[in-house]
Amino acid sequence: MPKPRMIEKVVTDSGTECQHSTSILSDQHTNKVKPAVVKKKLVKKSLRKVHPAHTINGKSKASSYDRVSNSTCKKAKINGKSIYASIQSENDCDASSSVPSLASNFSGEELDSSESVQIPADDESCSYITEEECDAKETEPLTVSSDKADVFQPALRFSAFSGVPPYLNFCLHDEKVVELPWIIRRCLKWKLSTITPVVVRKTVVNSGFRVIKEPKDWIGTWGKHMKSPLFTSILEHQKVNHFPGTFQIGRKDRLWRNMQKMVAKYGNEEFGFLPQTFVLPHDLRLLRKHWSRRTTDVPWIIKPPASARGTGIQVIHEWNQLPRKKPLVVQSYVKNPYLINGTKFDIRLYVFVTSVNPLRIYLYENGLVRFASLTYSTEMNSLDDLYVHLTNYSVNKHCEGYVANEDANVCQGHKWTLASLWTYFLGLGVDVEAIKSSLSDIVIKTLLSVTPALNEMLKNNVANRYSCFELFGFDILLDSDLKPWLLEVNISPSLHSTSSLDLSVKGPLIKNVLNMARFQFPNNASSLSKEHLANYISTYFKERVCEKSSGSDEGSQYCHDPSCSRFDLSEEATKKHEFYENIVQRAVSVPSGSCWTVQNQGHKVPTDIVEETNILDGLTRDDVQHLIETEDELSQSTGFTRVFPSVNSERYFRFMDKISYYDMLLNEWQKKFGCLGDRTLAIDYLKSHHETTKLS
Ligand code: ADP
Repeated sequence: MPKPRMIEKVVTDSGTECQHSTSILSDQHTNKVKPAVVKKKLVKKSLRKVHPAHTINGKSKASSYDRVSNSTCKKAKINGKSIYASIQSENDCDASSSVPSLASNFSGEELDSSESVQIPADDESCSYITEEECDAKETEPLTVSSDKADVFQPALRFSAFSGVPPYLNFCLHDEKVVELPWIIRRCLKWKLSTITPVVVRKTVVNSGFRVIKEPKDWIGTWGKHMKSPLFTSILEHQKVNHFPGTFQIGRKDRLWRNMQKMVAKYGNEEFGFLPQTFVLPHDLRLLRKHWSRRTTDVPWIIKPPASARGTGIQVIHEWNQLPRKKPLVVQSYVKNPYLINGTKFDIRLYVFVTSVNPLRIYLYENGLVRFASLTYSTEMNSLDDLYVHLTNYSVNKHCEGYVANEDANVCQGHKWTLASLWTYFLGLGVDVEAIKSSLSDIVIKTLLSVTPALNEMLKNNVANRYSCFELFGFDILLDSDLKPWLLEVNISPSLHSTSSLDLSVKGPLIKNVLNMARFQFPNNASSLSKEHLANYISTYFKERVCEKSSGSDEGSQYCHDPSCSRFDLSEEATKKHEFYENIVQRAVSVPSGSCWTVQNQGHKVPTDIVEETNILDGLTRDDVQHLIETEDELSQSTGFTRVFPSVNSERYFRFMDKISYYDMLLNEWQKKFGCLGDRTLAIDYLKSHHETTKLS
């Protein structure tokens, strides 16, 4: 197990060095961020609780917000130069919590002492990690530090649409956001789980959260998959990194069963991208039949149904090598992998699902390419050499011949970035776009195989669609014809990032994932925190000031509004849904092999229905809310490609038992405005409807 790193104490008492900074008020206003200089200064003990002094046009200024927040503004002399800093009065903080200084993003002081946190060293997490594994990993303390301390990002991000509460802005793991006053920041609690990866912890801590082991309340967490009933306890202002039911693809046995159903319905041509699999003991007879039909030199790969990191995997070719006593997945071995430098590799794709209904799937443009450490061979006597046949990093790192690669841009060693693989392929004249398109096809179809089940689980266990998002790791093997094979789907993909290559992929991945998840201030924050938030926004984001609704606390208009993302619908919206889901869908039968559109099936639909079928006319408040979420999410999707909905979403409608209203809505939206480039038209269209529905 890797050794944990020690706590880096940044905030210190009198006489010791700590970081002090100027922040970027003017940039915060525009959301355009220029790095501000961080100077290492000596800070007196009396200045421990310091708010950022904002720099405008190169001059330091105490913020007016600091005055509003009862903070005492003092002029501090640091290394002979004057700076203004506001010193928060004790009244501003909880008695139990010390107020961390602005430089303390990474210190142990961020953690309430009563809730001391043991943070495990990061290691490869897995698709279905056991309780024992998790516990075993959480043994020694560790905290994180900033590497790129001179970059400050805004703490808040605003929607393209007025009246939408601000989003919390996540920065990179080695950046920091401008520190919000403590009275506001104290409600930003992140629940530590046993598998929260270091890169996630760094990202959230540097973005202003406190990471706490067992907080009374929290906003976000990054943990292992939970059993579905546990999702019922998620409060409406909380977000978790899973949807209930995703073990349906995260377990190898369930993945196969779900895919089998799709193959049975739509054929091998469309869904035959998973190597043929048998789930034992259930399929033992079937396997026996198959086995006898194949020649003995065709290998099989056997895997535990719910594990990861190559654990328990073997390549076998004789019937008597098959363990009988435990549940097992037996899979046809892809014998002709595409080789680079004579070795086998697989691809880790990162797939981000922000919503199940409507289905929104994003594919991260970068990823990892993991090589086996020894030359590939099909000789029977090589089959038990895992360094030849398995491509897991966790297996191959133990091989003497394993060569690490720190350079994200270079094709060397046993781990590359996906971007490097594409460059390598382009150099060989390979049609990279065709491979990418097959990969997104596999991703979409795999998720479609479980969306009905996920929808059902969501409806039964989750109160609010705000609550869930999920990052998946899809493992793909290319064969010698460059045909991609899906090997497995990880529901807790490894975010292990000790090498700079890993970090270059996973750092931006996590930042963007958290921003696309669109975290907002909790609506249950104290009235004082809300009030201070309102003051902060009126001071720094004047153009974003909006009125509170009557009867609510000042500042509540800047906090998450759960009513916007509940599943229940107004009468008007219910009618519209019924119209599209029942009448149109029943009237429009989709012939296999053709695209679904209301228009091209018009002859089967009563004329009056067709005339009324522009779903984008008469948008309901709920429609507008969904489209705002979709646009705000898309605006944060740097490094990702939205693969569903996309230009060819309709092609996938025939693989859906029931096309949901929201999928139809987003499909039409996508057709009208696309999902790339300039969003001005889409945003203007939506703004006009937003105003109308707000008034109605
Ligand atoms: P784990 O979850 O334990 O990593 P995988 O299914 O990903 O299990 O398999 C581990 C490794 O074994 C893969 O990375 C790949 O190199 C190899 N492998 C798995 N399935 C096959 C297969 N059907 N054909 C060829 N190689 C395979």
